[in-house]
Amino acid sequence: MQEMDLMYQKLGISREVLAFGNKIEAELKERFAEIDENAEYNQMKVIHAMQENKVSEACLYTSTGYGYNDLGRDTLEAVYASTFHTESALVRPLLACGTHALAVALMGNLRPGDELLSPVGKPYDTLEEVIGIRPSRGSLAEYGVTYRQVELLEDGSFDYDAIAAAICDKTRLVEIQRSKGYLTRPTFSVKQIGELISFIKGIKPDVICMVDNCYGEFVETIEPSDVGADLVVGSLIKNPGGGLAPIGGYIAGKKEYVDNAAYRLTCPGLGKEVGATLGVNPAFYQGFFLAPTVTAGALKGAVFAANIYERLGFSVSPDSTQSRHDIIQAVTFGTPEGVIEFCKGIQAAAPVDSYVEPEPWAMPGYDSDVIMAAGAFIQGSSIELSADGPIKPPYTVYFQGGLTWYHAKLGILMSLQKILDKKLAELPKEV
Ligand SMILES: *Cc1c(COP(=O)(O)O)cnc(C)c1O
Repeated sequence: MQEMDLMYQKLGISREVLAFGNKIEAELKERFAEIDENAEYNQMKVIHAMQENKVSEACLYTSTGYGYNDLGRDTLEAVYASTFHTESALVRPLLACGTHALAVALMGNLRPGDELLSPVGKPYDTLEEVIGIRPSRGSLAEYGVTYRQVELLEDGSFDYDAIAAAICDKTRLVEIQRSKGYLTRPTFSVKQIGELISFIKGIKPDVICMVDNCYGEFVETIEPSDVGADLVVGSLIKNPGGGLAPIGGYIAGKKEYVDNAAYRLTCPGLGKEVGATLGVNPAFYQGFFLAPTVTAGALKGAVFAANIYERLGFSVSPDSTQSRHDIIQAVTFGTPEGVIEFCKGIQAAAPVDSYVEPEPWAMPGYDSDVIMAAGAFIQGSSIELSADGPIKPPYTVYFQGGLTWYHAKLGILMSLQKILDKKLAELPKEV
């Protein structure tokens, strides 16, 4: 279609790049159909949860002050609980981000003398200070909670023998991170997480199994709470916020453990009873309603990018054919320029701040310069199209999100255009 070519050209995409992208897209028809089917199932799951809990117009009103009897807040928590098939849920704008939600769940459920175990290697960077792996004020370590970690085996699978050996009298809570985050290990499927939980519960039935579900929501038709997780925790500026939630986190699971988290989030005695929603209810509901479709768009973008960059000879993880358990895609360029041009392309395709050129920068908490691209409606939202990469070998960029598939496609084509313009790669001859 000539109009389409011209429209992409206006945005800075050459005819050759578009043709190559379209060819790859055409080859992905079946993959995309699977993603759509999954989204359809999850959409029905969410609508069913909303109907079952009698979501009404009154749920969209706001509360202030103490927030007593906030029908919208309480009903939304019931909707999350129904969707994740849990007894209870805490879904709040007072949860400042994913790290905060994870910290509240840990701190609410661990007591001095307890031990926390990660059977899947190092947890997400920001949790190091929460746990006290890196000494930090107010960490769990300061309160006498000890920590143990079991590394994954060389091939990324669970080291069952070492996990069995690490579980002791003190082990109270096991934290399993579903997504690889910014590590090179594989992301776990919900089924794998279920197998790990069964194994752990077989050794110690009363241990709390908590899953860091960030980036994983709605990627499959089941969630970790469907396979034995006692708590699932995540961020609303990732998948379940559907791009509309302006802030927030969720903790869903067994009532006792969710209540423990609520007593930590607000205070003992008050728990879930207080916490005004300050007008966020409509965005939380509508975002959750859109989340299955938005997540599908982001997944298509990830699969599309894997196929494009693999075809150009770069190493990608997951690869072009692997099944997906989160929305993150890693591409290894092997040169700083590759990472930089990729991020510039993502930024140039954004609806907000497209005219800004990202540059590598020294960031607190990182041991090298980092480049980040994000032109998002919500600050730091990574369900929106975003990318970042540390400027150090092997020069890998991590990217995720895209509120619509079309925007994800534009972003990836723009990154490719920049990389070709700088002669860092060539299109295959056959197109
Ligand atoms: C994003 C993320 C977190 C932390 O969430 P923030 O909102 O950035 O605080 C924790 N774990 C994983 C796996 C994540 O992807």
